[in-house]
Amino acid sequence: MKIIPNNLKRMYDLYAPEYEQKALEVLRSGWYILGREVELFEKEFAAYTGAKYCVGLANGLDALWMSVHLLDIGPGDEVIVCSNAYIACVMGITKAGATPVFVEPDAYDNLDAEKLEAAITPRTKAIMPVHLYGMSCDMGRVMEIARKHGLRVIEDCAQAHGTHFHEKTLGTFGDVGCFSFYPTKGLGAFGDGGCILTDDEALAEKFRTFRNYGSSVRYHFDVVGANSRLDELQAGLLRVKLTHLDEMNEERNQIAARYLTGITNPRVRLPCIRPDSDSTWHQFVIHTDVRDELAAFLARREIGTVIHYPIPPHLSKAYAYLGYRRGDFPIAERCADEVLSLPMYNGITREEQDFVIDAINAFAPGRD
Ligand SMILES: *Cc1c(COP(=O)(O)O)cnc(C)c1O
Repeated sequence: MKIIPNNLKRMYDLYAPEYEQKALEVLRSGWYILGREVELFEKEFAAYTGAKYCVGLANGLDALWMSVHLLDIGPGDEVIVCSNAYIACVMGITKAGATPVFVEPDAYDNLDAEKLEAAITPRTKAIMPVHLYGMSCDMGRVMEIARKHGLRVIEDCAQAHGTHFHEKTLGTFGDVGCFSFYPTKGLGAFGDGGCILTDDEALAEKFRTFRNYGSSVRYHFDVVGANSRLDELQAGLLRVKLTHLDEMNEERNQIAARYLTGITNPRVRLPCIRPDSDSTWHQFVIHTDVRDELAAFLARREIGTVIHYPIPPHLSKAYAYLGYRRGDFPIAERCADEVLSLPMYNGITREEQDFVIDAINAFAPGRD
């Protein structure tokens, strides 16, 4: 039985007639950029999350760097981010000219809030909590520390569409919540897309202007902006998917629950959810000190896995100029050596999942 890590075709098949109808509707409308679908999606996603404003953008990376830039954070300023974050989080900071400062993750694979204050300097302007794998950061402590030190908070929710902390939806805690709609994400489009959430009307207006060449009135340019617009087709398709997001997240919870009870191999550490929060299970990430051997064992049984992520940002070639070395962030480095994402997608069958669970339980290092 061949099982790929993330079967996007299955996710499409679940609601195919609805997507096809919407795609035709948009194609036949004759209006493709910044129209009715984007406006309605922004309203509906804001309502879904409980934010006041949503602004559609071209992708998640743009959402991050535009947030840093539009909060007037740039050269000479520092932004705190988790040392095991995805590279796009760090690029969002450096593209705006600011400097990333890394803080190690906790037992939930996310920013360790207890280590935050030690990383704050006179140059610190913001904290960027990244809700990795669909799990929530400790937003209670993060917001408390941010308030105490007068720091901005830019949440990276690119992997956590609809996750809650204390029953509040992620992306509504900080000054800005950033989302990606890359096809593999919980709320994934059929191409690139992204958005920001904010309760600040003036800031929302800045994003609307900035995404469209810095223009609020046609052919009048207020600032040097970007071309970062969510298109009508993606917005329309996202509107369809949003109506199913809760049931999709519920299905992922059931898939995760089956892994959590089914996998009993003592060499595997299972993921755990922070108290008073839930997870949307963007990835089901296990830790094991025999990761490469386990991945190879599963590959021989045609079970595909992915490593999120094999190189922590501070050791990536792109950030060699920051001057970090191996050993600087040992927890993130250990994560990179130990994490493995199991097949996780809407539409995976019980039979397929049992095949994965049985294979993992049959694994013993040094034996084939
Ligand atoms: C996917 C992702 C991004 C970037 O989103 P794009 O739409 O691919 O630019 C940023 N942060 C995290 C945590 C992500 O998973």
